[in-house]
Amino acid sequence: MERTLSIIKPDAVERNLIGNIIKRFEDAGIKIVAMKLLKLSKAQAEAFYAVHKERPFYGELTDYMSSGPCVPMILEGEGVILKNREIMGATDPKEAAAGTIRADLAIDKEKNSVHGSDAPETAAQEIAFFFTEYELAG
Ligand code: UDP
Repeated sequence: MERTLSIIKPDAVERNLIGNIIKRFEDAGIKIVAMKLLKLSKAQAEAFYAVHKERPFYGELTDYMSSGPCVPMILEGEGVILKNREIMGATDPKEAAAGTIRADLAIDKEKNSVHGSDAPETAAQEIAFFFTEYELAG
């Protein structure tokens, strides 16, 4: 059974969209096997997005990701990495398919409401960034 890391980002937590987003995962048959609500420091946001260090949006992105609470979750299911990316939609909500989280809820290309790991290796790294073994429900 595959696992991936999802984050409900600060723009969505601020607008009371936690339940709306979780419902979409549950309705798609995805299990939430770990979840917490926390506020990243600037340094933690920089570490999480280290892969984007050289990109022009890195400073703004890490300011935004440390601006308020977010909800990291471990999602589990068959093919859940890809399935989650489909449910999320494209990075820029203007390009996201109708009915996806980002098309329905995101504010813009930066404040796009959710994060999702893009491959098995990044999923493992990103899960370990937020969760210890003890915090896994099953
Ligand atoms: N991002 C941004 N400006 C851009 C591209 C990305 O602010 O031009 C932000 C956005 O929040 C995005 C995150 O950086 O979700 C990571 O970018 P990536 O290309 O990995 O997109 P994702 O995998 O989240 O769709």
